[in-house]
Amino acid sequence: QTERLAAALATLNDAQRAAVEHGVGAALGDVRPLLVIAGAGSGKTSTLAHRVANLIAQGADPQRILLLTFSRRAAQEMARRAGQVAAQVLGLRSEAAPALPWAGTFHGVGARLLREYAAQIGLDENFTIHDRGDAEDLMGLVRHELGFSATTKRFPRKGTCVSIYSRTVNTCAPLVEVLAQAFPWCAEWESELKRLFAGYVEAKQQQHVLDYDDLLLYWAGMVAEPALAAHLGARFDHVLVDEYQDTNRLQAAILLALKPDGRGLTVVGDDAQSIYSFRGATVRNILDFPAQFAEPARVVALERNYRSTQPILDVSNAVIAAAAERHAKTLWTDKPSAGRPQLVLVPDEAQQAQWVADRVLAHREGGLALKSQAVLFRTSYHSAALELELARRNIPFVKYGGLKFLEASHVKDLLAVLRFAQNPRGRMAGFRVTQLIPGIGPATATRLLDAMDTAADPTAAVQDFVPPASAQVEWGCFADTYAALRAPTLEWPADMGLALDWYLPHLERLHDDAGVRRGDVEQLARLAAGYASRERFLTELTLDPPEATSDRAGPPLLDEDYLILSTIHSAKGQEWTSVHVLNVVDGCLPADVAQGAQELEEERRLLYVAMTRAKDHLHLLVPQRFYVTQQSARGDRHLYAGRSRFITEADAARFERCTWPPPPVQAPHVPAPAAAIDLLARMRAAWR
Ligand code: ATP
Ligand code: MG
Repeated sequence: QTERLAAALATLNDAQRAAVEHGVGAALGDVRPLLVIAGAGSGKTSTLAHRVANLIAQGADPQRILLLTFSRRAAQEMARRAGQVAAQVLGLRSEAAPALPWAGTFHGVGARLLREYAAQIGLDENFTIHDRGDAEDLMGLVRHELGFSATTKRFPRKGTCVSIYSRTVNTCAPLVEVLAQAFPWCAEWESELKRLFAGYVEAKQQQHVLDYDDLLLYWAGMVAEPALAAHLGARFDHVLVDEYQDTNRLQAAILLALKPDGRGLTVVGDDAQSIYSFRGATVRNILDFPAQFAEPARVVALERNYRSTQPILDVSNAVIAAAAERHAKTLWTDKPSAGRPQLVLVPDEAQQAQWVADRVLAHREGGLALKSQAVLFRTSYHSAALELELARRNIPFVKYGGLKFLEASHVKDLLAVLRFAQNPRGRMAGFRVTQLIPGIGPATATRLLDAMDTAADPTAAVQDFVPPASAQVEWGCFADTYAALRAPTLEWPADMGLALDWYLPHLERLHDDAGVRRGDVEQLARLAAGYASRERFLTELTLDPPEATSDRAGPPLLDEDYLILSTIHSAKGQEWTSVHVLNVVDGCLPADVAQGAQELEEERRLLYVAMTRAKDHLHLLVPQRFYVTQQSARGDRHLYAGRSRFITEADAARFERCTWPPPPVQAPHVPAPAAAIDLLARMRAAWR
């Protein structure tokens, strides 16, 4: 085994190895806290995976390792890699690689723990999780019930209310502070907002509903209880966190409660890549980590970059070097270079789309699979022109970070049926489902939900409910389905079949384009089979929705090659051989909504994250005419933008500069003869 271990760790450099071997050995679980802070592509994530593998290889119980990161995809990938390396060291076949049952996101793990400990904290274990859309709907309802929408038109919209609420929760800051800092135009409503949020919390509790923020808030509340904190802390010998720079105060508080002395705690991250402060993340978590514990943390820095070529590193480093505040890092690589990165000037977004599509195809001709190429952009709708162009040319693509599959109304309908069956107190789902029945409006729906609230047996309340005469037949049909869905003997995924049978006729009736929508809900039903239970299906789907592909192109088959389109935020931690970044113009990067020095700095880091995703080819696109959609009622407008201020003139010189379409070739300048001749007259004269 010693030899196999040496082989598995042979590729690591000294600093990576130090992090992988830190405290592993005799006294498992008795390990000084460890921080790995390093620049992009320096192997932080792979070091973390090797560390987990090493822990397992040296006897740690995979059940007792908690591995946290920002997306389920990333967690699964890291768990897979760790398992493979561990199997290699232990001499196991790769099919027998150890699994890591506790690898996930903070929210996903929180949801699991809250269900498991529901009884201890007075929570209904069948709670529903509300996504952002549901949260806004419920906020809107409470807002309406409290009469705030009627009092004045200037009262913040429901989406803004949810943003304020969420920020208050995630930053653990008083409302008045959050208002002053981030929503000054809403400050006058402080006391009304307080009442609104109290009503919102009340409504959630009554309906056994938790929103995203609650998953952290309740988890933090749970471990604020010393006995539970000690119990949970003892359950996990090792807690490891990737992308620590994008955690918020609540997440840091949870970690600290689990591991008060920091023993067994490992966090890795890069302060230069912190891009989620708009959601309450704070880079202070990573900067303050070392001194947080009685016994100071060990800090390991990684300086060698394995991802990008030197010219790509040079331009990326130049962008981040100008940042106001940062932990100084130097990155170097000895990766051979494939030419300079390109800075491409195009007239507008339509031409930008053409250029990118051309380039993508040219790369493919050159042997680069579509999957190893990505196009990144600031905001989801910035890819619209490109999506059209790709569809026109039949280039398959998958889009991350855009409109989610689950945001489509028919998908929400079907899920609401299952949610309503899972949690009869969930009024948002109940409203949605019952109003699909012809003849049932909001008043009847409310009457039903009220009756269910007070009934000892909510299923019976549905059976006994007397709907308006016009809805009688349809109602009977629904009540039967509901009873069947509530039956304790029902075995997943049979629920899906029942729900689909009931829903499809309504879908046909409600939508002209029922055919396409039918495909979506049937796809959802197929997905269901992959989950262990109705509860797991609903939870995981809400927390980590499948990404939508373009409506136009349709989902590519799994074995098909496809191009990746992604917002920069969703691209974090990943890498591609070729990367295009769209709209590297002022007004987009930085976004024109970014106000103040701190927000601008975050925009700079965002560009840095985008550029450092590239392994061999980086293309920054600069459309000179840039289309902005204003949030206000003023509508869309064109903006004559310049190159992003983050690429200075000196930095621009490091790029290969292209203009497209190429400027017309000018004839060499020949000075005109002083005396004009009348050639035409001469020609005529020749015939005279
Ligand atoms: P980011 O900051 O973007 O999250 P990171 O620091 O987590 O980046 P990784 O994604 O772990 O970096 O690694 C970047 C690339 O370098 C990966 O392709 C990885 O396989 C490779 N790599 C990391 N360490 C080594 C090594 N010692 N030898 C060879 N390749 C390595
Ligand atoms: Mg990483």
